[in-house]
Parts: sequence; structure tokens; C-alpha cells
Amino acid sequence: MTHHDHDRRECRSLFEQLSEYMDGELRESACSRFDEHFRDCPRCEQFVEQMRKAVRLVEGMPCPKLPDEVRRALLASAEALDDSANPS
Ligand SMILES: [Zn+2]
Repeated sequence: MTHHDHDRRECRSLFEQLSEYMDGELRESACSRFDEHFRDCPRCEQFVEQMRKAVRLVEGMPCPKLPDEVRRALLASAEALDDSANPS
């Protein structure tokens, strides 16, 4: 297993918690795990920035939770990260 592969697994495990992270439902220790990861992984940081913008739009709506569509998009993106790490 390469270091790169390990990084992508970390991305994926973070993405599984991303909706909670953006809902502010994670404990501080879990949040700092995101912040530390972003330092090493600008790709994830950019992605979360995009999602934050999307969430700001959602926040103007009656239901402030991330819609299922966004949750599915997050999981699909996590899978895409895995695919790009393992092109075979
Ligand atoms: Zn990452």
C-alpha cells in the first residue's frame, strides 16, 4: 500500500463525516482532524470550500440540513477520489 493510497483513504473517511462537519455536529477533536487533513490535501480543502458555498444557499431554505442530493454527491466524490488513486 502506497502513502498516496493511504491519503485517499483518509479523504474518503473524512468525506463520510463531511455533512456532520458542515452541520457543526462534530466534536472539536473530529473537526481538527479535518483541519489537519486540509493542510496536507488542498484538493479536499477546495472541495469543502465549494460545498460550503452550496450549504450557504441551502441555509436560506426552510430545511437547513444538507439535502440527500448533496450527501450523494459527497459520497460519489469520495469514490472518485478512490478511483483516481487506483486507476486500474
Ligand atoms: Zn483529502
